Amino acid sequence: MPEPPLVLTLALPTPLYRHFEYLAPLKLDIDERKALRPGMRLEVPFGKQTLVGVLLSISHKSTYPLHKLKPAHKVLDTTPIITGDVLALCQFAAEYYQHPLGDVMMSALPQKLRTSDGTLPQTTYWQLTTEGKGLSANSLKRSPKQQSAWQALLTHSPISEPALSALNIDKPTLRQLHKKGLAESFQQTHSTCTSTPATHTILKEPHRILNTEQQAAFDALTFNSFQCSLLEGITGSGKTEVYLHAIERVLHAGQQALVLVPEIGLTPQTVARFAARFGVPITQLHSSVAKGARLENWHAAQTGQARIIIGTRLAVFAPAPRLGIIIVDEEHDSSFKQQEGLRYNARDLAILRAKHNNIPVLMGSATPSLESLHNALSGRYQHLRITERAGSASTPTMQRIDMRKQTLHCGIAQASLDAIGATLARDEQVLVFINRRGFAPSYICQSCGWSAACKFCDARMTLHSKPRKLHCHHCGNQSQTPSQCPSCYNPTLTALGQGTERAEDVLQTSFKSYKVIRVDQDSMQRKNAMAALTTQLNEGKPCLLVGTQMLAKGHHFPNVTLVVIVDTDQGLMSGDFRGIERMGQLIVQVAGRAGREEKPGTVLIQSYRPEHPMLEKLVTENYHNFAQSLLLERQQSLMPPFSFMALLRAEAKHPDSARGLLTQAAQLACEIMPPSDNCRYLGPIPAFMERRNDRFRFQLQLQFSNRQVRAQLLKALILKIDKLPLSKRVRWSIDVDPQDMG
Ligand code: ADP
Ligand code: ZN
Ligand code: ZN
Repeated sequence: MPEPPLVLTLALPTPLYRHFEYLAPLKLDIDERKALRPGMRLEVPFGKQTLVGVLLSISHKSTYPLHKLKPAHKVLDTTPIITGDVLALCQFAAEYYQHPLGDVMMSALPQKLRTSDGTLPQTTYWQLTTEGKGLSANSLKRSPKQQSAWQALLTHSPISEPALSALNIDKPTLRQLHKKGLAESFQQTHSTCTSTPATHTILKEPHRILNTEQQAAFDALTFNSFQCSLLEGITGSGKTEVYLHAIERVLHAGQQALVLVPEIGLTPQTVARFAARFGVPITQLHSSVAKGARLENWHAAQTGQARIIIGTRLAVFAPAPRLGIIIVDEEHDSSFKQQEGLRYNARDLAILRAKHNNIPVLMGSATPSLESLHNALSGRYQHLRITERAGSASTPTMQRIDMRKQTLHCGIAQASLDAIGATLARDEQVLVFINRRGFAPSYICQSCGWSAACKFCDARMTLHSKPRKLHCHHCGNQSQTPSQCPSCYNPTLTALGQGTERAEDVLQTSFKSYKVIRVDQDSMQRKNAMAALTTQLNEGKPCLLVGTQMLAKGHHFPNVTLVVIVDTDQGLMSGDFRGIERMGQLIVQVAGRAGREEKPGTVLIQSYRPEHPMLEKLVTENYHNFAQSLLLERQQSLMPPFSFMALLRAEAKHPDSARGLLTQAAQLACEIMPPSDNCRYLGPIPAFMERRNDRFRFQLQLQFSNRQVRAQLLKALILKIDKLPLSKRVRWSIDVDPQDMG
């Protein structure tokens, strides 16, 4: 009797909010049909295209007549590639962020697995031969490398090559054992590790004894069940040490730890610290890992061989069959939110994943986001605090400098220069923070008022001096600097304001005998530039660092004792409701780079509005009180976290199309759910930068009293927008819990 046809429901990476049905590939034999499982990838025809999709379910029935279904081309995997908790996480993310499931699943996979050619790497496993097993303990002692390789194989066989390399056992040594007939290898692809987890030496170096506050935080953690904790500890208070202890605990239980860290810079130092402490295989997942290696690292996590997985936001989707804890370091950092495509927040998904897996999630920050702080204060999260710096370091003192009363040297106050001079004379290091790269943010004609503007954006061009060029920081457009004013032919044009390059020049001129090092996106393009910088600073010679927020994140510069923050007013005046929150976080994080060892640190904050009540609170009290006042303001104005937001964005070549689509969308929203205390619709309004990259941008702000109402409205709204003729001509997107309001 012929087999009844199999109907496969797939998630495909299309912008369509639905699943797709196919028949099983024609050439599948009985065993292959039986082996089909949700989570496997298939290649299917889709119109004129070929797509890779993920199998969701298998049945014999379809809502369509069977003869209308097309057969899939082929099955790409022998075992499911998205499984268990990651599958559930994808499904949740698709619902929560109102994003097509197929696309969510593709974002969860390493790039190489998003195409038909990509398959799981074959892993080479090693084990001892019978002869190898029979060897007496000291037979290889003349070759220490072979001896330790043999020892490792004796304890852990079979063990994968990545796991061996994490134990510092290289391939040539293994091949030598092979030649002697002592070891053999075999290839295997599988999604979960079948061998027992290798019993590595967990601690390579002894852990530090926790101080009282750290110990109290650690003792409050529960393992083996869901618990969400916010560790609010000032910079340098030893939060990382608490993470390390928590991870140690999880490793002893044979589990894996997932550590999420913000973008760039931070990772090398964190990884080095983890690698120094633990003897287990550690794998990294972030965008600077090469594509091929990323697949291997992903696979190491999937097989369970990698015991610690450290990565940026994308790592929240990393497979980990024995996950025991998720740690989110610097949880306030906005890089956890993806700004295009699937606009997810990895911190929020981390909590969800922990809940699903019934494991703890530990989030840490010196400057928690108002969202997390609110949850901690209201008792939804466990609130752990560390109020003193670990070791001998004291907290830096903050002083405001009133720019109105100062002689300025290209934006740097005389008082700051004096303090810098005194610090260098004491053989200490200085950090000057200026959150703008380039030489000057505008290039103008003082006689007629012309300023260099981007052809494609509503934005001024930034003057760069190394090499001299005008750059648009919003679309990447570059042009030569004009030799005279294009409008009135005045031959002298003026650079207005300051960026890192200009500050570098001024400081180098003022402090000729000291090294000035600029740290920004432009100067740090070389690979490992950040690591090289850290090494140089650790030598301890007096020098000046000038840089952008790249310097603010997590670094440990032991000899920096003075921090100068050149401009805080941008944050105070920002149009974004999170502007002040971000400014406070940035100041405290930058300040946290000062005085991390024995010598006390000082922070100078330059401002034209030093009396601003929020700045006052931050400087004279602390971040916690500052954040609490902001929370009160948010509560009064019903802004997040006291309401739940979504932004509907639209952009098009013609402003009328983008605005038009949103006007229609606003009407539809009103029809689906009339405005009330539960939902408010604001707009369409132009984005902060109305035209960017030659497109006009508008947005509709949707605010709700709770998440369920929001999900309900958005779901219905998207289906209706999809049917509007204008939606085909306008690029539009939904951003749930937007971080960037521009
Ligand atoms: P955070 O992550 O809160 O910024 P770190 O964990 O980096 O802080 O700790 C800051 C410094 O204090 C580091 O040099 C760290 O080695 C040291 N430290 C942390 N905990 C202890 C401890 N219990 N005893 C001694 N030194 C500690
Ligand atoms: Zn002019
Ligand atoms: Zn531009």
